[in-house]
Amino acid sequence: MTQLLFKNARIFDGTSAECAEGMYLLVADGRIQEVSDRPISASEARVIDVGGRTLMPGMIDAHIHAFASDVAVQRVEAMGEAYRTAHALRMLTHALDCGFTTVRDIGGGNYGLYKAAADGLFVGPRYFYSGKILSMTGGHGDFRQVEESPRYQSVCGCSSTIFNTVAVIADGVDECIKSTREQLRQGAHCIKIMGSGGVASPTDPIWMNQYREDEIRAIVNECVERRSYVSAHCHPASAVRRCVEFGVRSIEHGTLIDAETARFVAEKGAYIVPTMVIIAALVELGRKLGFPAQSQEKAEYAWKQAISGMDLMRQAGVKICFGTDLMGSMYDQECREFTLRSEVFSPLEMLRQATSIPAGMMMLEGQIGCIAPGAHADLLVVEGDPLKDISLLAANGRNLRTIVRGGVVIRNELL
Ligand SMILES: [Zn+2]
Repeated sequence: MTQLLFKNARIFDGTSAECAEGMYLLVADGRIQEVSDRPISASEARVIDVGGRTLMPGMIDAHIHAFASDVAVQRVEAMGEAYRTAHALRMLTHALDCGFTTVRDIGGGNYGLYKAAADGLFVGPRYFYSGKILSMTGGHGDFRQVEESPRYQSVCGCSSTIFNTVAVIADGVDECIKSTREQLRQGAHCIKIMGSGGVASPTDPIWMNQYREDEIRAIVNECVERRSYVSAHCHPASAVRRCVEFGVRSIEHGTLIDAETARFVAEKGAYIVPTMVIIAALVELGRKLGFPAQSQEKAEYAWKQAISGMDLMRQAGVKICFGTDLMGSMYDQECREFTLRSEVFSPLEMLRQATSIPAGMMMLEGQIGCIAPGAHADLLVVEGDPLKDISLLAANGRNLRTIVRGGVVIRNELL
């Protein structure tokens, strides 16, 4: 593979507020080979003169759903796989153009899409997926209406399982263990569970804790053996607390958190991935896009507390990751997450949330989200200083002069 040599770069390494200037960085075989304040000799390398601009790690969106082609789950199902895949390509291409060189698909992603990305069938971000989300019957992953009778679809003839595009229903320790193993067999990077009620499901209140302790601990144990981890969808503080207590590593949303729970999460070293933009977008556009009425009410309720919840997490020192959770035609609001978070966080805090912190959560420290020898060469050149002005990254990639993913130049406007 061609070598790349960046010169005269100001480097934000994903963590430190101190950015070294006049730096050289050599990429070979898709990895960062060397970072130096002195010229690196590499006669074969393609040279990119950064011209004193900021070179930073490619960003990570830790909460996406590539196959969520519509705000209404019923329509996601009805449109079929081809439509969902076309949407996935549209949203992943857009994410990379915005500077997200890694995404974590935290519900509904699969090996087929991962393999298509890995084989270069389309040009998108590094793709990690949790497979189908485990939900209890009547939980946030159960999208059957209250008047519907149970439908059973036989999987492999050995059990009866209810599932949809994003979730699989599993009740009791045995089913939870089996479903966990099944997702891991299919290449899941981690396991996601529904730890509380949610916005988009029709029959469960948002404040409800979901899954019993023994079920959650059984899933966590399976993941620990696999050297993987569990992520849990949680809105209320009570759900956040018990999931973290039972061994969950990453909490999704955490919208209705309180100060005491935020301190508990920080103490335990768990992570939270707030998703402001989906709530804001649903409040604004949900009715117009046909989001079900009962779900719309839940979104409006969550929005009232979402921003102050993030402030509580910040005060407690929780490790916070960047995530968006967008669905359907809202996919193009991904960068707006930065704008919404600016009410609470500094640019440096947000830069870490989109680089080194999610890398740690994903157990990929030193591999992605950082500039260091040995890391994947996922790199961005930003026009202007993102440590002073985060809006540079909220402009759908317009201020990115260069985008490199795995040593491959995706965009370069510099000589
Ligand atoms: Zn989600």
